Amino acid sequence: MKIYDMPDAQGHFGPYGGTFVSETLIAAIDELKAQYLHYRDDPQFQAEFAYELKHYVGRPSPIYHARRLSDSLGGAQIYLKREDLNHTGAHKINNTVGQAMLARRMGKQRIIAETGAGQHGVASATVAARYGMECVVYMGSEDVRRQAQNVYRMKLLGARVVPVESGSKTLKDALNEAMRDWVTNVQNTFYIIGTVAGPHPYPMMVRDFNSVVGRECLTQMPEMAGRQPDVVLACVGGGSNAMGIFHPYIPHESVRLMGVEAGGEGIASGHHAASLVAGSPGVLHGNRTYLLQDGNGQIIETHSISAGLDYPGVGPEHAWLKDSHRAEYVAINDDEALHAFHTLCRMEGIIPALESSHALAQAMKMAPTMDKDRILLVNLSGRGDKDMATVAERSGIKL
Ligand SMILES: *Cc1c(COP(=O)(O)O)cnc(C)c1O
Repeated sequence: MKIYDMPDAQGHFGPYGGTFVSETLIAAIDELKAQYLHYRDDPQFQAEFAYELKHYVGRPSPIYHARRLSDSLGGAQIYLKREDLNHTGAHKINNTVGQAMLARRMGKQRIIAETGAGQHGVASATVAARYGMECVVYMGSEDVRRQAQNVYRMKLLGARVVPVESGSKTLKDALNEAMRDWVTNVQNTFYIIGTVAGPHPYPMMVRDFNSVVGRECLTQMPEMAGRQPDVVLACVGGGSNAMGIFHPYIPHESVRLMGVEAGGEGIASGHHAASLVAGSPGVLHGNRTYLLQDGNGQIIETHSISAGLDYPGVGPEHAWLKDSHRAEYVAINDDEALHAFHTLCRMEGIIPALESSHALAQAMKMAPTMDKDRILLVNLSGRGDKDMATVAERSGIKL
C-alpha cells in the first residue's frame, strides 16, 4: 500500500481517520463526499480555484532565503515558504476559499465554522463576505473574551459570532455546538472545518486545498536553490499547513518531513499540546487519531503559547505518517518558540506567527549540526501581528 494513495474510500489512513458521527449526519457527510469527489476532478472548479488563489489570496507565495539567519547559525541554509504574505495573513484562507466554492455549488447559502483563537473564524467570515453568504461562527465564551480583536474582525466582515457557554467554554465546546447547528440546518448549511481533522472527507479535502503550498515549493525550490530541500518543516496544530506542504513531497523519498508540535512548558510538565509526540490513539471529533487523553479516555487540557497549536488531537493522516515513519514529529516548547520569534524579527525583518515560530525553532536547532550546502525549508504558516499582545505580555510589557 503506497501511502500517497491515502485515504481509502472510507477515509482511512492506515488504522486512522474514518467517519465517527451520529446517524443524523451520515446523509450530509455522504452528500459532501460525493460532491467533493465530483468537483475535485472538474476542470472548471479547479480553474476557478486557481483564479481565486491567484487574485484574491495573492498566490503563489514566494520562497525566501533567510541568509542572515542561516549565516549566523553557521550551518544549513534556511528557506521560508511565505504563507504569512497571503490575504488574511496565514495559510487558512487556501482551505476556506475551496470549501466556500464547494458550498456554493452545493446550493448552500449559509456557512458555519468553529474557532478557538479566531483565525479560522476570520478566514471563514472573509470568504462568506467574498461570496455573499450568511456566516455564523461558534466560539467558546472564554475565547470570545480573550480574542476580542478577532471577534470584532469577524463582525466587521458581516459574520455573527455565537459565544458558547458550555463545558470549558473553549474550542472543543464550540466544535460540539457547530455540529449541533449542522444537524439542525443541514438543508441550507455548509460546515467549514479549519484543519485536516473531523470525519472523512474533511481531512482529505482540507489537505487537497492546502496542497497548493507544497506544489508551489516543488517548482520554486529548483528555481531558487537548484534542487529540492533536504528537510521540510512545519508546525502541527490540527495539521493543515503541515499536510499542505508535506503531501506533494511524500513521493520524494529523499526529502525528510518533520512536523513540530507545541511542547508548551515541556513534555515532562504535562502542560503541552503534543498529541503525536506524547499522546495515544483514540477517537475525537469524528475520526480516529492520536490524542492527549488520560487512562479513562478523557481529553486532557492542553497548553501552548500559540493558540493555533492548542488542540488535543491531530489530523489522522499525520498519525499514519508517524506510524509509517514517512514523517518525524518533535516538540518545541514555548521559550524556544519565543526565541525563534524574536530572532526572525531582528535578523530578517519578518514577524512570524507564534505557531510558525515552532517550526522555525526546530530548523534553528538543526541548522548548526548540518553542512552549509544542506537546505531546510520551513513553512512560515502565518504572520505575527495577531500575537503582539501575547509576546508583549511575556516580556512584561503592557500595550
Ligand atoms: C491555525 C494556525 C496553525 C495551526 O493549524 P494547522 O491546521 O496545524 O496548520 C498554524 N499556523 C498558523 C499561522 C495558524 O493560524
